[in-house]
Amino acid sequence: SGLLSGQFAIITGAASANGLGKASARLFAEHGATVAILDLDLTAAQGAAADLGPGHIGLACDVTDRDACQRAVDQLLAQWGQIDVLINNAGITQPLKLMDIQGANYDAVLDVNLRGTLYMTQAVTPHLRRRQRGSIVNISSVSAQRGGGIFGGPHYSAAKAGILGLTKASARELAVDGIRVNAVCPGFIATDITAGKLTDDMLVGIKAGIPLGRPGRADEVAGCCLFLASSLASYVTGSEVDVNGGSLIH
Ligand code: NAD
Repeated sequence: SGLLSGQFAIITGAASANGLGKASARLFAEHGATVAILDLDLTAAQGAAADLGPGHIGLACDVTDRDACQRAVDQLLAQWGQIDVLINNAGITQPLKLMDIQGANYDAVLDVNLRGTLYMTQAVTPHLRRRQRGSIVNISSVSAQRGGGIFGGPHYSAAKAGILGLTKASARELAVDGIRVNAVCPGFIATDITAGKLTDDMLVGIKAGIPLGRPGRADEVAGCCLFLASSLASYVTGSEVDVNGGSLIH
C-alpha cells in the first residue's frame, strides 16, 4: 500500500548516494512504487536500485543522448508494461562567474539539465498519451527564480529557468491527455553536487539567506516530488513548487 502503490516510476540521476534523486527513489519505493534508476554508470545505477529492495531496476542512460533515453524507456516498457511517473532529476552545476563560462561549460550544463529533461519527456510521452495518464516532475532550482547566488553560475540559472519554461509549456500541451507536468525548485540542499567546491565562507553566506536557518535535506525535496507524482496533486499542473526554507519568498 502507499501513495504510489502499483505504479512504475523512472528517476534520472538517482544513483548518487546522498542525492535528491536517490531520496525520491527511496520514498517512492516506500510508497509502493517500482522504480527505475537511470544514471551514467550501470554498476552505480544497479547498486542504487538494489538498495531500494528487490524488483527495482538500475539502467545506464546518459540523458543527453536521445537514443539512449528511448532505449531505456523501451526496455522498461517491455519489462513493466507501463510507466506512470518520470522524475527529471539528472543535473550538473558549475560555480563559474559570467565571464569564465566557456562554450564547453555552457554545453555541459545546458545539455544535462535542459536537453536531458526534453529528451526523457519525449521518450515517455507517446506511452503516457496512450494511457491518458502520467505525472512528470522536473527538478529546477531556486537559482532559476532568483538569479543564482547560491552555487551555480549564470549558465546553471539559465538551464534551470529553461526547465521552468519547458515544464509550463509541456503542462499546457499534455493536459488534454491527462498528463501533469510540474517543477520543483529546491533551495540549498546538502548533497554531493558541489563536488568539494563549496567553501566555509560560501556556506555561511548561504545560511544567512535562509529564514529557516539551515540547509534542506534531500528527503524534504523527495516529499514534494512524492506529492506531485501522486494523485494527491491530481489538480496541480504547470506549477513550480518551492522547497527552499524561505530563501526565496515571492
Ligand atoms: P548529485 O550530483 O548528487 O546527483 C546528480 C546525479 O545526476 C548524479 O548521480 C550524476 O551521475 C547524474 N548525472 C549527471 N549527468 C548525467 C547524465 N548526463 N545522464 C544521467 N545522469 C546524469 O546532485 P543532487 O544535488 O542530488 O542534484 C539533483 C538535481 O537537483 C539536479 O538537477 C540539481 O541541479 C538539482 N538541484 C540541487 C540542489 C542542491 O542544493 N543540491 C538545489 C537545486 C536543484
